[in-house]
Amino acid sequence: MIHVSDRRLFIVGVPVDPATFESMLTHIETWLARRDRVYQICTVSPEFVMIAQDNPDFMRALHQADLCVADGVGLLLAARLLGRRLPERVTGSDGVPLIARRAAERGWKLFLLGAAPGVAERAAARLVADNPGLIIAGTHAGSPAPTEEDEIVARVNASGADILFVAYGAPQQDLWIARNRDRLSVAVAMGVGGTFDFIAGVVPRAPRWMRRLGLEWLYRLYRQPWRWRRMLRLPRFVWAVLTRRERPLPLAGEDRVP
Ligand code: UDP
Repeated sequence: MIHVSDRRLFIVGVPVDPATFESMLTHIETWLARRDRVYQICTVSPEFVMIAQDNPDFMRALHQADLCVADGVGLLLAARLLGRRLPERVTGSDGVPLIARRAAERGWKLFLLGAAPGVAERAAARLVADNPGLIIAGTHAGSPAPTEEDEIVARVNASGADILFVAYGAPQQDLWIARNRDRLSVAVAMGVGGTFDFIAGVVPRAPRWMRRLGLEWLYRLYRQPWRWRRMLRLPRFVWAVLTRRERPLPLAGEDRVP
């Protein structure tokens, strides 16, 4: 597997690339020009890191992904503890609209897979309203159940989509892509979590000031309190980072935090 960056770092064993929104778009441009296989993007959060500790298939999928962006302020802080700097949080919720804008300019066709019935359609309508000329090749809720896979892959391939967004939450969405990447005909597949819910307006996004302060997780806990159990992974993440300090040898030309 070709990795996009030799400056990839590992946080409790999980790969994280020092990407920006701009560099992610540049990679997508390159991959669409090549069209030689399916390139996988994962939006890694502290939750991903902790799930991967107990799920070897998920850990393997993350290692085999072409780009693992840091979706979570906890990863930026963890990187600093490891003496590295991640340039910015690259979230699915902000990344998908940016990819959609570029797609409208370039004529790339998008497929929105996942979320509750009707949500992907609403998210697609919103993206088209914001980006006139954008082509949505298809939307489908479906489910990450392996029994549905053949039908969903056939649907995505028949749509002629160039980029596939999968919103089944982690780890299902990333495992779904990993299992099917050899038979998908898209050029790029990306797991996007709750992004369609945000774009469709089903779930409100944290106010800008909270996002800037790195408190989006707190807002999500307030809006979706049933997440508290999932969020117990956050203190475990901090503990894991503090007690398992990988210190990869710095590569030539690598940014080091002074
Ligand atoms: N989801 C789904 N099918 C499933 C499980 C989840 O469509 O079997 C969707 C869910 O509706 C939501 C997304 O996957 O749109 C996951 O959202 P969540 O907020 O949990 O993801 P996060 O952003 O925290 O990764």
